[in-house]
Amino acid sequence: MNTSEVKVGNIVIGGKNPIVVQSMCNTHTADIEASFGQCVRLYEAGAEMIRLTVPSLNDVKALAEIKRRLRESGIGVPLVADVHFSPEIAIAAAAVVEKVRINPGNFHKDHEKACEKFRQLVDVCRRNGTAIRIGLNHGSLGERITGLYGNTPEAMKEAAMEWLRLCRENDFHNVVVSLKASNTTVMIEAYRLLAGAMEAEGMSYPLHLGVTEAGNGDSGRMKSAVGISALLSEGIGDTVRVSLTEDPVNEIPVARYIADRYRNIIHSSMSGLEISGKKAVADYSAPSRERLILDMSCDLGKMLVDRKIDDIEIKGSYMSDDGAPVSLDGTEEAAYFADELLQAARRRFYKPEYIACPGCGRTMYNLEETFNEVKKRTAHLKGMVIAVMGCIVNGPGEMADADWGYVGEGNGKVTIYKKKTPVLKHIPETEAIDRLLELIGSSDYSAPSSL
Ligand code: SF4
Repeated sequence: MNTSEVKVGNIVIGGKNPIVVQSMCNTHTADIEASFGQCVRLYEAGAEMIRLTVPSLNDVKALAEIKRRLRESGIGVPLVADVHFSPEIAIAAAAVVEKVRINPGNFHKDHEKACEKFRQLVDVCRRNGTAIRIGLNHGSLGERITGLYGNTPEAMKEAAMEWLRLCRENDFHNVVVSLKASNTTVMIEAYRLLAGAMEAEGMSYPLHLGVTEAGNGDSGRMKSAVGISALLSEGIGDTVRVSLTEDPVNEIPVARYIADRYRNIIHSSMSGLEISGKKAVADYSAPSRERLILDMSCDLGKMLVDRKIDDIEIKGSYMSDDGAPVSLDGTEEAAYFADELLQAARRRFYKPEYIACPGCGRTMYNLEETFNEVKKRTAHLKGMVIAVMGCIVNGPGEMADADWGYVGEGNGKVTIYKKKTPVLKHIPETEAIDRLLELIGSSDYSAPSSL
């Protein structure tokens, strides 16, 4: 897909430029010391653009100071303000940083008023040379759009096209778009639909790719690689963020590797592929366990998502951290990798499906620790979708199709959701996992034999 160029500070997204790798701080933005420190670590790890959450006007001031310190340290990495709901904060941030990420549909319940606020933001961005990312995540669409199209990839595409048409009418083109979802098939379909719709209307805005709330560890990496690589392999995508519920610095090598594969700088460690009927048998000679995980996901994920194959077998070996080869031929680990990848591509569910946000300055508790504890204690609930979200502002919307949600309220309290309904509020964090398990135990859940 040929996209136009969008300038974000000293970086250009789109056109023939290399895919830009970005990440987001999980510090409180108002904690200038911690946020500056994390920006430096992200930059040193290779982040080419860094996003910070901006929940208040006070955070805009902090953002300005973080930027000042970075520039003073000789770090020119563009900063992106992540703003939800408030056009006033977005407008203030647009005068400070190089890009603002917004969902204009959340500016106001009344669509016309939301449009008016968006136009005001566009004017400020035009004056300041600031770029905009229109970020419409699955689960964060307004009632008007979901009423018309359901909570579907089609709805995501339609919502994006409405705002892009408004940009075009206002002759504003410094715009990037994202349609993220935690569900890889929804995410892939939404971007494919958008790429087609933009082409049909003669638009060429660059696309920011990501699988949101992907979780952590192997499954977080696999989901991200499946979704992002499927699209990059079709020429869709200009900038990527891998969202992990871990130290955000860990996101960079994963994103970098995926981006570099599609610039042909680096190649898969797959040494053989045999397709027998609808099963792929892939042989690897991977230099590390992480490379194996990413290569498998990039090589086989799209085939699974597009139902070209139904099953996989992983063979060969990878090198362990101490340099010894680890065989995969017929091992339990090889079967585990296959199970994980089939689940990342949503073809077979062998364990619960977890949705966990990466955390940001809005996170109200130790997300990583809590998520790992929830995973440990719910591991038997095959096929159930369980969300662990950092904040009550965006968490409930963004956990999309979860059966249960654990959402941080702040002040050491948690709300537990059953589907979209809050069923227990203000539960102390220390009790919340027990209460969640009690609720699941008393519900009519039974493990599906297959999905
Ligand atoms: S859901 Fe998580 S990542 Fe999203 S705004 Fe809340 S804390 Fe931040």
